[in-house]
Amino acid sequence: MDISVAGTGYVGLVTGVCLASRGHKVTCVETDRQKLAALRAGEPPIFEPGLRALMAESAANLTFTDDYAGAYKNAEVIFISVGTPERGDGYANLKYVYDAAEQIAASAESGCTVVMKSTVPMGTCEKLEKFFACHAGENVRIDVASNPEFLSQGTAVRDFLNEQRLVFGVRSASAEKVLRAVYAGFTKPVIVTDPQTAEMIKYASNNFLALKISFINEIANICELVGADVDTVSYGMGLDKRIGEKFLRAGIGYGGSCFPKDTLALHWLAKYHDYELKTVKAAIEVNENQRIRLIKKLRKYHKSVEGLRVAVLGLTFKPGTDDLREAPSVMNINILLEEGAAVTVWDPVAVPRVKAMFGDQVGYADTIERAVEGTDACLVLTEWEEIKNFDLKKFKHLMKTPLILDGRNCFDLRAAAEAGITYDSIGRKRVT
Ligand code: NAD
Repeated sequence: MDISVAGTGYVGLVTGVCLASRGHKVTCVETDRQKLAALRAGEPPIFEPGLRALMAESAANLTFTDDYAGAYKNAEVIFISVGTPERGDGYANLKYVYDAAEQIAASAESGCTVVMKSTVPMGTCEKLEKFFACHAGENVRIDVASNPEFLSQGTAVRDFLNEQRLVFGVRSASAEKVLRAVYAGFTKPVIVTDPQTAEMIKYASNNFLALKISFINEIANICELVGADVDTVSYGMGLDKRIGEKFLRAGIGYGGSCFPKDTLALHWLAKYHDYELKTVKAAIEVNENQRIRLIKKLRKYHKSVEGLRVAVLGLTFKPGTDDLREAPSVMNINILLEEGAAVTVWDPVAVPRVKAMFGDQVGYADTIERAVEGTDACLVLTEWEEIKNFDLKKFKHLMKTPLILDGRNCFDLRAAAEAGITYDSIGRKRVT
């Protein structure tokens, strides 16, 4: 099929590349010149395991362009996968979605199906269909279908190609037929429903996962008060199939481009309909507090942060990605800097992005050893394998004061004690 994709971010590029790998002719439209130049040079502008190789393998079926008119003119299917960030008041900002919609309306010369991959509030697809009915050319019928994406950054290619379920929110049999043809060969269960329900499946899924994370983080905080071990609690809970082990790891809270904005958006939407979504509200509040948990712990060991040398290990909101959107590291570094600490950071992939944010306000180390050398405290914010496998004894030898505050429970408590470091993690008893 002739498919165009608007937006080549984490979702759009993975969608385009994966569909090209399945034999579709895919044109990816990107407005960001820098990203486009990288893509044309065969270079994914994002870090995502397996993406570069699949992009190279599928090159014959892939085109990258900013010529949206050419891309949309005769496309059979157009995916919209632009960002839907938080607007500032909690609601999703649909500006990029409508920009893309205007470009499609101005360019499409024959009927097509617009497929909404971006996460959008319930009712958006319906509104867009009306928008196209008013703004597309005469006799150009544009169907709008919802096909929310459930991939996770870090495993996006694998997730897309092995979706646990496909959700088709459609208002016509023809739109369903188009989506079935796009995903021919995908063997996972397909849920065919109306667009509003499809849009809600996405919000409800992300909100539930956020809730699960905030729940275990609160349990972790109580574990610290009563002397229980949250990792064992999670393990014990996770073996119960009704609960499941996923998203049950205590830490310093969720981040990334999805959970923070999608919880706010659903909460806002509920309020708009005069309904208070109390569980989601609580998940948001718990997460806000959890993100500063390590700073609070640091204050337990040092009355003042001013003048301390602090290493921050791991900057992305989770391993396997270079994404810093809503990463707890950004907030934590800002607080440390405001309070007068000297900060040195280490991350295996995100340093260029962090440099763009913090410039020379922080030091950049190319090894964990250099990051922690001579420091008074070390904050662990992402559970990268390189950190988990780091020899604990080196902290003791290299740091001025070997204090590790671990927001991701990367190390064994006994091993940390044996290495002679002061080790404080989330929801676990300190072993001394
Ligand atoms: P992103 O910000 O990484 O990518 C969006 C891209 O769209 C950018 O490269 C931007 O330059 C481009 N763009 C903006 N306007 C454009 C236009 N008119 N035409 C062409 N390109 C345009 O965003 P993302 O993380 O890929 O997320 C996209 C959507 O998918 C969001 O709604 C998000 O909630 C949802 N989603 C994201 C994930 C994830 O893990 N990132 C997972 C599932 C769903």
